[in-house]
Amino acid sequence: MRTHHPVIIVHGGAGHPPEETLSKRLKGCEQAALIGWEILQKGKSALEAVEMAVIELEDNPLFNAGTGSTLNVHGQVEMDAAIMDGRTLKAGAVATVSRIRNPIHLARKVLEDGRHVLLGGEGAHRFARQSGVPEYPPESLIVEDARRRWEKQHGTVGCVALDQAGGIAVGTSTGGLFDKLPGRIGDSPLLGCGTYADDSGGVSCTGNGEAIIRVVMAKTTLDFMRAGSHPMDTAKKAVALLEEKTGGKGGLIIIDKNGKVGYARSTSEMPICVVSGPGKIFTDR
Ligand code: ASP
Repeated sequence: MRTHHPVIIVHGGAGHPPEETLSKRLKGCEQAALIGWEILQKGKSALEAVEMAVIELEDNPLFNAGTGSTLNVHGQVEMDAAIMDGRTLKAGAVATVSRIRNPIHLARKVLEDGRHVLLGGEGAHRFARQSGVPEYPPESLIVEDARRRWEKQHGTVGCVALDQAGGIAVGTSTGGLFDKLPGRIGDSPLLGCGTYADDSGGVSCTGNGEAIIRVVMAKTTLDFMRAGSHPMDTAKKAVALLEEKTGGKGGLIIIDKNGKVGYARSTSEMPICVVSGPGKIFTDR
């Protein structure tokens, strides 16, 4: 039954990336949001829309997720991703995977499987094989141009959607931080930190993962929102808290249960796109 006007928001990562790529990254966010929107408009679930929108961003080498992910200190790709259904609190996440083209898809498989919430490293790869998710040579995910452009920059991707039945879902996917140690896991696959949804709303964060983890940013944001503030004010409050408590910089996107959208960043840029109706497309940096 249709009870809600669907809405979707995506982000392309908080950071200070080169100005000349901004319009392309905004376009990439718009394409991803529209893919998700089409799914919502057909009456399908927010979870489906989030997965497909994030896959589009992972496949775009301009973003630090999937193909085009940043490299660790040994020049390797190690990616994290999580997806969560706010209505059921079902969630799936993967950490430090290196041979998966779309980590968000593998995270969705973990969610559907239901035995665990977070799988890491070789265990996640074994689960991928058992689930029929193909593995690729890790070099195929490294894009030289993108790597050079993105060195030391953030560019995680994330998406929150509200479907026609009032369900909220969130997904976040990242190559993590440039030059990180092998095995480092950021905030993105940790529920409550970089990714969280419940029946009040959904939040996807981006920025310095070590700082975001310390303030449990996604869940803290929803707690602020439940205490009564508009998602836009809530987003600003959460980003201010991150800076005040840790000195860390970042950003986040939110949708609440009524379809109200919020976003904020303390970095110079965070491309976002919101689609809330046919032709109702809003982008910002
Ligand atoms: N939060 C991500 C991490 O620390 C990075 C990012 O948002 O760009 O892994």
